[in-house]
Amino acid sequence: MDVISVMDDTLSNKIAAGEVVERPASIVKELVENSIDAESTVIEIALEEAGLTSIRVTDNGKGMSARDAVVAFERHATSKISNEHDLFRIRTLGFRGEALASIASVSKVSLWTSDGETEGTEVQIEGGMVVKQSNAAYRKGTDMTVAQLFYNTPARLKYMKTIQTELGHTIDLVNRLAISHPHISFKLMHHSQVLLQTAGKGDQRRVLHDIYGTAVAKKMVPFHGENADFKVSGFVTLPEMTRASKNYMTLIVNGRWVKSYAANQAVLDGLHTYLPIGRFPISVVNVETDPFLTDVNVHPSKQHIRLSKEADLFALIKTAVHEAVKKAIIVPEAIKRQ
Ligand code: ADP
Ligand code: MG
Repeated sequence: MDVISVMDDTLSNKIAAGEVVERPASIVKELVENSIDAESTVIEIALEEAGLTSIRVTDNGKGMSARDAVVAFERHATSKISNEHDLFRIRTLGFRGEALASIASVSKVSLWTSDGETEGTEVQIEGGMVVKQSNAAYRKGTDMTVAQLFYNTPARLKYMKTIQTELGHTIDLVNRLAISHPHISFKLMHHSQVLLQTAGKGDQRRVLHDIYGTAVAKKMVPFHGENADFKVSGFVTLPEMTRASKNYMTLIVNGRWVKSYAANQAVLDGLHTYLPIGRFPISVVNVETDPFLTDVNVHPSKQHIRLSKEADLFALIKTAVHEAVKKAIIVPEAIKRQ
């Protein structure tokens, strides 16, 4: 007896959503990354109840045509890659064409968008089904609201932590996205409270100042390093300005914030002997490399990547951090002795 059937899209999207849409912060990540990929220079994020009631992301990017505004919600629908060759040279944050399909399957989405060529489009989707599509006047860019997250997956909803915890995850995420993209002006709001606003002038130290405050930004030293494959730059706090956890260490590879235990360790090794035990710096490491040396297709959330020649990269980070901190510590002491 034949018992196997291929799932319909609504069901498979909900299953995929389990991987990408863990909590409000994961939705903010996908929406904002889409805004970044659309070459926006101003991105606003507005949350209600830490995003559980509503997440609204507004950008001034490329926008979408009326046709694309609907197709975007189909599984594997993407404008970012079209063949296997592209898969190994990814420069965009997205490429899987899954996020919007997944998000729309577990929430109610309203979209206003225009590519600047036509009037604009409004699309409303509930639980993955298009319930409205019409022409609507809109400026070039995109405005997407994800409301009533997990309204049709009660088990997931029940799993959400307190408003404060969920908000904490989103603030942390938006901070890292803002650090990764100093040329973009970000504004994060919770109800009517502004939690973060960056200028978008391209100055990473200024973004660090906006996030961590003057005292921290003042204690950060810049570092640089380069070899044939990697260009490394960033900022690290001097040993007198440390934290009790590694949560303030950020790695950015080709504009993508990624998590890497080994890269954090390289920074710590660079600070070796200077750092008090159990304390960690606030740091940002920017890595530029040929996308061909990276594999971002490790997990749907793209928070981890694989790197070729990673031992060389970590050695480069360690040396760059060590040299910069050594200089910053020794020079003021030499001046004091004079
Ligand atoms: P991916 O980002 O992997 O391509 P998504 O499901 O996140 O997949 O988005 C599908 C497509 O919708 C994108 O490839 C893009 O063409 C379009 N899109 C989504 N958000 C925006 C946006 N803010 N501005 C312009 N286009 C967008
Ligand atoms: Mg995307």
